[in-house]
Amino acid sequence: MLTASTDVRSSGQWQTIGNRAAITLLNGAIKQQRVSHAYLFIGPNRVGKRTLAIDFARALNCNAQEVAAPGWGDLQPDPPCGQCSACDRIARSNFADVQIITSATQTSKDSNPQAAQRRTMIGIDLIKDLQSDAILEPYEGRVKVFIIDEANRMSQDAANALLKTLEEPPSSVHIILIAPSADSVPETIASRCHLVRLRSVPPETIADSLIERHDVPQAEAQTLAKMSMGAPGWAIAALNDPSLIDTRKQSASRIIDIIRADLPDRFDYAFEMTREFRRDRASALDEIARWLEILRDIAMLQNDLNQHIVFGDRIEELSDLAKQLTTEDIARASSAVQNTRDALMSNAYPQLAFDAMMLEVPNV
Ligand SMILES: [Zn+2]
Repeated sequence: MLTASTDVRSSGQWQTIGNRAAITLLNGAIKQQRVSHAYLFIGPNRVGKRTLAIDFARALNCNAQEVAAPGWGDLQPDPPCGQCSACDRIARSNFADVQIITSATQTSKDSNPQAAQRRTMIGIDLIKDLQSDAILEPYEGRVKVFIIDEANRMSQDAANALLKTLEEPPSSVHIILIAPSADSVPETIASRCHLVRLRSVPPETIADSLIERHDVPQAEAQTLAKMSMGAPGWAIAALNDPSLIDTRKQSASRIIDIIRADLPDRFDYAFEMTREFRRDRASALDEIARWLEILRDIAMLQNDLNQHIVFGDRIEELSDLAKQLTTEDIARASSAVQNTRDALMSNAYPQLAFDAMMLEVPNV
């Protein structure tokens, strides 16, 4: 009991997996009472940006004295203690002063929730709601925290409106913007935020956390951690929804087939991918990420780094490809796939982008 409490006191109960540098930075800001009014959290998909934002909101509002053991005097657990009512309710999205805003958040003007669900942009109404809330005193916490998830999806006028709040932030308000990269939000916004960069998490760290926090058997934890490619959010999602793993495996089979296929089949695939991109952008971009993983696995096998490959269940076919392709083939294919991804992100015509990729990917 005493050991557990001492543990809590020394580190705080941050739920974020890995990314110690970001945690240390935010912890330091709280301890030195130099918390900025605006942060921009950037990093790869599902790496833990939103979890870190919630951790930070908990740390800012934590009432650790509620749970400090009698006789400890001034000694209290470091925030977020994970045990006080603020920590608990913020984690359950049930705390009036911490709000998460996404494109699907209902505005005060929405008459039905379905309208919000269909929206893909963060419009000005959401920012106006934020502003009228921000000028009020915190209701139950020490400070108000607004987390704007996918801030890269703000409309131009929403961004302009938010800029005014960032220029003159109310004293007890903190705004955390979440985006894939700093240049995915307007420069005027990014320049007013303290940048916090999250990085891919090493597979051992993800595996350890799956074992400790989710009771996953070691072998399974290691497989999931490798498959997650540094994104703990994916590993946890796959734990709750094993179909994600099947989808990944099917995608790998498809890609191995395409590397062996002739041009007509490749163009059929480009056509299917174009349709998929129009239907479900995230799923098509996922498939592109898988291409890079497969190519990386082949490169690993060419260098006898068998223990590092992600698709260990396809090792025989991948080894064959590793023998038949040259290092240059793999490098050229990887840059073609990356170019396709960049082109799609900057709204290129998808059919052209996928066709171009099919012409560049080597054939065996
Ligand atoms: Zn707490």
